[in-house]
Amino acid sequence: MAVTLYNYRTLKKESFRPLQQGSVGLYTCGPTVYNHQHIGNYRTYIFEDVLRRALEWNGYRVRHVMNITDVGHLTGDVDAGEDKLELGAKREKKTVWEVARFYTRSFLRDLPLLNIKRADVVAPATAHIADQIRVIRRLVARGYAYETPTAVYFDVRKFKPYGKYSHQPLAKLKIGARAEVIQDPAKRHPADFALWFKRTGKFKHHAMHWPSPWGDGFPGWHIECSAISSKHLGQPFDIHTGAVDHIFPHHTNEIAQSEAAYGKPLARFWLEGAHLVVDGRKMSKSLGNVYLIRDVINRGFDPLDFRYFVLGAHYRTQLNFTWKALAAAARGRAGLSNAIERIRRGPSAGRRSGSLRDEVEVLKVVAAAERQFRAALTDDLNTPKALAVVNELLHYGNSLLDRRLPTGRAVRIIGMTVKTFDRVLGLGLGRRQKSAIPNAVRKLAAEREAFRRAKRWAEADKLRERIKKLGYLAEDTVDGLRLKISR
Ligand code: AMP
Ligand code: ZN
Repeated sequence: MAVTLYNYRTLKKESFRPLQQGSVGLYTCGPTVYNHQHIGNYRTYIFEDVLRRALEWNGYRVRHVMNITDVGHLTGDVDAGEDKLELGAKREKKTVWEVARFYTRSFLRDLPLLNIKRADVVAPATAHIADQIRVIRRLVARGYAYETPTAVYFDVRKFKPYGKYSHQPLAKLKIGARAEVIQDPAKRHPADFALWFKRTGKFKHHAMHWPSPWGDGFPGWHIECSAISSKHLGQPFDIHTGAVDHIFPHHTNEIAQSEAAYGKPLARFWLEGAHLVVDGRKMSKSLGNVYLIRDVINRGFDPLDFRYFVLGAHYRTQLNFTWKALAAAARGRAGLSNAIERIRRGPSAGRRSGSLRDEVEVLKVVAAAERQFRAALTDDLNTPKALAVVNELLHYGNSLLDRRLPTGRAVRIIGMTVKTFDRVLGLGLGRRQKSAIPNAVRKLAAEREAFRRAKRWAEADKLRERIKKLGYLAEDTVDGLRLKISR
């Protein structure tokens, strides 16, 4: 069945066919590793993961590439901001390298908790400096970039389609209009953006720097995605994804750089996910509503409850997060798990078999559900519809068990079918609940509890320290011991 995807480039749903028969090149913009990724970021990674799994389910091999932004992303996404990694280093009194390593690990550790498959290539920007310099050189040689005493800029007026992607013609762009944005006076146009920052002026002491044909310095934010995607996927490749905040400037600038450098399209399909908001408001530190995966766990949820919550909305619809809504999602997922578990156990022994006619009837319902499930996913990843199909099918299976009809094979096929659906949904249906706290930590906590009961406080405290070193907190509450993630 053909896959239809909404292409932000054309603002239309289009039938997707990969460039190379049977295999798809997928590029997704990765995290800026100066802080933990929040649940909003994870909404986007979940949508991208479902895209990948849906393509695989349709028989494609997917080559998935993701960058890690560990240099050059400035605050406010503008050239006049401060490097986010440097800010992180100052905040935590660590080196920028330590900050990058720490938050990259945090991100990679969260992924399996959410059943998000890791990209085939995870590419830190700092490991691709030579590739970025190569693209910038091409842009300079082709007259799309120019050097000033402080930076090398992309000359937006030279690239005629600039702003077409974000549907903002250059004349309408309001860049540098804000008073706090200090512009480099040598810039030819306020919308010109940095490809390379020299280690001078406000960046004189910038910690990360490399030699280049334009002097010591570091790359701008956007160039890493152009360099990494073309290196690992070629150009053009099939699908590029991200969330709506990146339409401008990031994706707009990626397109400008890559297409000016190589004279051909960067990617054929562009998918932009809508945001997760909290209580109707943007997630931000100042509002105190930035939540992490560890907050989800510490409030007693399975991270997959969050995945279920995300799949309940279409990826192009803004989604409002509340703890109440997450609790409802957890109940929904538990309902599915219970239904599938009951079907797995099947009818009790000794009951008579259903008739052949009953079995044929069940197989027909299963086949129809399969068609509907596939149709939902191939229609621009309609996950709410796909979840509804799963719900209905399980409901049907359980009603058969209630009616004691038919026994055996047929009803088990329903369970097996839902499990194959779960290869795309990734909700861990029918799998025994796994705790997000590793067994080793639980064991230490149990030993500590025994010491406490024996009033052997010193030993208990020692174990608490060991638990802490592993990144967990052992808290004694009125309800007994609670383990929390502290990293
Ligand atoms: P960043 O770490 O800022 O580079 O962002 C990582 C990914 O998360 C990018 O694809 C962003 O577009 C996406 N993103 C940022 N904020 C949100 C949000 N509130 N909801 C959904 N996706 C987001
Ligand atoms: Zn990118």
